Amino acid sequence: MLHRGKVAEGVFAEGDAVTAAVDADRRRRIARNHTATHLLQAALRRALGDHVKQAGSHVEADRLRFDFTHFTGLTAAELATIEEEVNAAVWADHRCTRRRNRSSRQWLRARWRSSARSTGTTCAS
Ligand SMILES: [Zn+2]
Repeated sequence: MLHRGKVAEGVFAEGDAVTAAVDADRRRRIARNHTATHLLQAALRRALGDHVKQAGSHVEADRLRFDFTHFTGLTAAELATIEEEVNAAVWADHRCTRRRNRSSRQWLRARWRSSARSTGTTCAS
């Protein structure tokens, strides 16, 4: 696993033992917004049709952006419907379950293969 970070204080060198910590509150807020992108995509597809595809997203702790394909801009009524559906799903407070059919390593390998395919690079392993 690869992590990138910033040294906020002090210095360290290769071989030093360091402790890295995740900001758990920030991580939870990002996870919530990530889930919201799934809710939003589902609501968009229900309201506009199955042709709607995700064209990008940007998820942060305090906001998200979701880009999608559609033939026209949304009407105020469509926007209201989608917003109500997403908010209803949030307020329903569904139980969250995690299903893992593959190990993290298998998942990462599959992801690498699919990104290698799309960029034309070759998988080294
Ligand atoms: Zn997801």
